[in-house]
Formats: sequence, structure tokens, C-alpha cells
Amino acid sequence: MELSRAAASNRDAIKEIEQKSGVQITDCYQCGKCSAGCPVAFAMDKTPRQIIRLLQLGMLDEALKTHTIWLCATCQTCSTRCPRDVDLASLLEVLRQTAQKKGFVAEKNMDKFHDIFLSNVKSFGKSQEVFLSGFYNLRSGKLFQDVDSAPRLFLTGKAHLKPSLVKDKKTVQRIFEKCLEGRE
Ligand code: SF4
Ligand code: SF4
Repeated sequence: MELSRAAASNRDAIKEIEQKSGVQITDCYQCGKCSAGCPVAFAMDKTPRQIIRLLQLGMLDEALKTHTIWLCATCQTCSTRCPRDVDLASLLEVLRQTAQKKGFVAEKNMDKFHDIFLSNVKSFGKSQEVFLSGFYNLRSGKLFQDVDSAPRLFLTGKAHLKPSLVKDKKTVQRIFEKCLEGRE
């Protein structure tokens, strides 16, 4: 691949990703502290450091097609450890949104889980495990995944059929609206 051509053709798209995430990709000097601390790096096809390197080289589609961006658990360890204050967790979130728009979803079930988790929080104000796992099983086609643990969860009071709602659902709705401003 001709790197200077890739960098030039993706310049605007990468600039937009920088603006949305608040990350200046040239701030990263490739020390690798983010990847060394990432608890999921062992399962990723590219380390978090390599993702930002791809962007520095203008190789946007290569970054968007990775499994890494979907495996990220948004634990913020990378952002906290970075000596250059690069908020990699935020960058990966914007890359997921960009990948969705371009139809590059390498981990389809992870994408479904994200959607179901967020609509769960939006509807109830917090995550409801019974609904989360039920809808996820339905949408992923894994109908009976983890059903054997359900009786124990109900008996020990860790799962409930009746959803518990937060008192101030309007504030939750406002948080969602604020987060989605300019993203849809
Ligand atoms: S810790 Fe920060 S500077 Fe170091 S490689 Fe990761 S993002 Fe780049
Ligand atoms: S936020 Fe994602 S990339 Fe960063 S350390 Fe956590 S799992 Fe790894």
C-alpha cells in the first residue's frame, strides 16, 4: 500500500474521528504503555497501540476492520496509563461508530450486545440482566446460552423478572440525547 496516498485520502475522515473523540493522533509516540496494561490485548488482532499507529499512517479501513475495536471493554486502563493523555478508549468508541456506518463490523455479536445494553439502559435507566441476556440470546441466535444458571440467579435474588427502574428516567434520557448530539 502507498502510505502517503492512504494518508491523504483518509485525512478528512481521520480529522473527524479526532474531533469526535477529542484525541490528537499525532500525540501518541508509540511507547506501548496502553497495550501493556490492556486486559483484553491477548485476544485482540491488533494491540491498542497498533490501532493508533494505523491511523497515524492513514490506514483507516484497516483499523476499522479489526476485531480489536469490538473487543475493547472500555475499561479506560489505556487512557489512564498514557503518558501523553491520549484517550484511546474514547477513540475506540468513535472507531466503532465509524465502522458501523461503513458496514465494517468484525464482531457482529459484540455489536448486538452493545445495542441491546444501551437500549436496556435507555429504557430502564440501568441494565437489567434478565432482559439483557434474553434479548441478546434471541438476537444472536444462541437461545439457550447460560439458561442453566438462571434458576440459581433467581433463587439467590441476583436476577428478577420485574425490572427495577431508576426514579429519574428523564435525566437518563437527557444523557442519551446529549451523547448522541451530532452523531446520528
Ligand atoms: S500509551 Fe499513549 S503514547 Fe503510548 S502508545 Fe499508547 S496511546 Fe501512544
Ligand atoms: S479501554 Fe479498551 S483498549 Fe483500553 S485498556 Fe480497556 S479494553 Fe484495552
